[in-house]
Amino acid sequence: MLLFQGVAVFDGEALLPATDVVVSDGVIAEVGRACPPDAERIDGRGATLIPGLIDSHAHVFPGDLEQAARFGVTTVLDMMSDPVQAGRLRAGAATAADRADLRTAGTAATVPGGYGWYLVDMGLLPPFPTLVTPDEADGFVADRLSEGSDYLKILVDDGSTVGMPTPSLSAETLRALVAAAHDRERLTVVHALTAESARLAARAGADVLGHLFVDRPAPGLAAELSSRGTTVVPTLAVLGELFGAPQGRGLAADVRVAPYLTESARQMLTMGPVPLGEEARHDLGVPDRTVAELRDAGVTILAGSDASNPGTAHGVTLHQELRRLVGAGLTPREALTAATAAPARCFGLDDRGGIRPGLRADLVLVDGDPTTDIDRTLDIRGVWRGGRRVDRTPRQDPGPS
Ligand SMILES: [Zn+2]
Repeated sequence: MLLFQGVAVFDGEALLPATDVVVSDGVIAEVGRACPPDAERIDGRGATLIPGLIDSHAHVFPGDLEQAARFGVTTVLDMMSDPVQAGRLRAGAATAADRADLRTAGTAATVPGGYGWYLVDMGLLPPFPTLVTPDEADGFVADRLSEGSDYLKILVDDGSTVGMPTPSLSAETLRALVAAAHDRERLTVVHALTAESARLAARAGADVLGHLFVDRPAPGLAAELSSRGTTVVPTLAVLGELFGAPQGRGLAADVRVAPYLTESARQMLTMGPVPLGEEARHDLGVPDRTVAELRDAGVTILAGSDASNPGTAHGVTLHQELRRLVGAGLTPREALTAATAAPARCFGLDDRGGIRPGLRADLVLVDGDPTTDIDRTLDIRGVWRGGRRVDRTPRQDPGPS
């Protein structure tokens, strides 16, 4: 049994004044003045207890879930990976307290040679099934679910934002994929980097847009997403890394970050932008301003790091994304909700994302008040997953899998 004493509590939505939180058998047992005699006491004075963070957009490889947990990210929503490897990592996370829990999209939907296939060319993913026509959608979705996908990721990208023309899914096939997933009561997450593909995805009935478009503003889209109930995961941090405003090196030098990075994570975080052509120059004010429009229109916004992309690191980059969301106009409290209660609600993770009796004791204790200063989320005193304290010492890098 654990007793956090005299700690301010951010419950996923609101800040509660200093109180006590009791954890028993891996679950939050009580929020309020309490004094169980046999509990391990943790002094919470001057600190805030927040729910374990949920990263709503990442790609997982061995070692990533441990890296995430060291930075208080206790649930990772993978948005495209090798389903066999994801299954192994998920099974490992179920028994080990030192790594984040995992949900996965597994194989994402794209056309042969379409967006995403470069990961095969680079040796990062084994070759995966693709589709072209709407009548293939139902079988494609059924196969993903039998492989263990929790939701369906769909890639709609003609390569125009990076100046590399790529074949892409048709609007008809996109619609058929969304319908097939909905028939099986699964969410659809659509990768969209252009205003046009974002609009296409929304009109196809996609539940979640992954990324924000960088090519041009999309007048009226925020209101349309709001009325459709579409959720958005802007991934501002990775858009900065991809399109010329990298911040990974600064982050890696932060004394609150450096000691907890494995060498491979440090290299990834500090590698700087991938060289792209003139066509890949975009005004990053577009996604920033779109975030503000979405917020004002009442669209649900989720925080996603898009780690393992160049310039990111699991765990760390989610903190950076929270700062970027605040920079774009969310309040610190809204940004914290975007990484706790909101993704839990969106993805049906009913046992987490908040601090109240009955929920999993996925918890992060940080100095100060992150609901007024988002930078404090990196001032981590401790991380607990399922009531067990996460050892924050980085281990040896895992070997290639
Ligand atoms: Zn991604």
